[in-house]
Amino acid sequence: MSYANVTTPAHTAADLYASAGTDFSKLNWLESQWVAWYLYFGNPVIATGLASFLVHEIVYFGRSLPWIIVDAIPYFRRWKLQPGKIPTAAEQWECTKLVLLSHFSIEAPLIILFHPLAELVGMSTWQVPLPGWKIMLPQIAFFFFFEDMFHYFAHQLLHTPMLYKHIHKIHHKYSAPFGLAAEYAHPAEVMILGTGTIAGPLLYTFFRRDLHIFTVYVWITLRLFQAIDAHSGYDFPWSLQHILPFWSGAEHHDFHHMAFVNNFSTSFRWWDRVLGTDDKYLAYRERVKAAKDAAKAKGLNSAQWKEVEDRMVKEAEAEGVRAESEVVRKAEGKKVQ
Ligand SMILES: [Zn+2]
Ligand SMILES: [Zn+2]
Repeated sequence: MSYANVTTPAHTAADLYASAGTDFSKLNWLESQWVAWYLYFGNPVIATGLASFLVHEIVYFGRSLPWIIVDAIPYFRRWKLQPGKIPTAAEQWECTKLVLLSHFSIEAPLIILFHPLAELVGMSTWQVPLPGWKIMLPQIAFFFFFEDMFHYFAHQLLHTPMLYKHIHKIHHKYSAPFGLAAEYAHPAEVMILGTGTIAGPLLYTFFRRDLHIFTVYVWITLRLFQAIDAHSGYDFPWSLQHILPFWSGAEHHDFHHMAFVNNFSTSFRWWDRVLGTDDKYLAYRERVKAAKDAAKAKGLNSAQWKEVEDRMVKEAEAEGVRAESEVVRKAEGKKVQ
């Protein structure tokens, strides 16, 4: 049987493994589980679709949960970027409901459709052995780079008046974001920005033909960690951006939500830096630093400093509200003409 026949979806997983001459005795624990999953469901499209959906749900809510706990513990407030803005339980629940609705109505069908598309471009799914980290590392580095670049330009487009008013405004509901709000967005935004996450692996497979969906799962997991952490609202001394200065992290994206302008990228700071869309953010950071130094010189206590800090956050946020209403006004102006 030719390899072309092996990939025909009409075959069951058992047929596929038999045709490929898979040697089950050489598999490690994870690979055995991988094979067992495909054999259990029989139909590889269902097995891949369900696995992809579960990976997304488990990682999304699994990574959001620690942030819900952190929000509930006052000790951590010293590292909160907008200290006065702790999300309430009602807000978190409201956000969870919309995110779940979007996951089940929009993302689930797309994820199921992903299998035929992945097979079409030549991505491995049911096959074992799984790739090792040396193979995965450069592939995932490329996906990070590609997604960040795609997101930078698509996100700027979403800030143009009409697209903002009708699509991106939903994501900007929270001027002080929290982990769960990472995917709080209009379905069209989920699809537009999700393209940046998925197009990297599809393009890579199309040109190189050597990508396993397991690598895509590792990538999606890391990308979800990045997105949720960037919305967490906390900047710890041990946050990644203090180790890798080009990493964006919460400190970068929180400003985008607070001030509505600047910082359009996801993982890295370089596009905003090179194209100058971080000027207001850098100026704000300078202002905070100068105020901190002045507070130290004046010998302000922590309560007095908190007052100064709150005022600066409120000023930046008020500017953001003005900038946002300006964009919405432009969109409405266009509609009237
Ligand atoms: Zn935005
Ligand atoms: Zn955001």
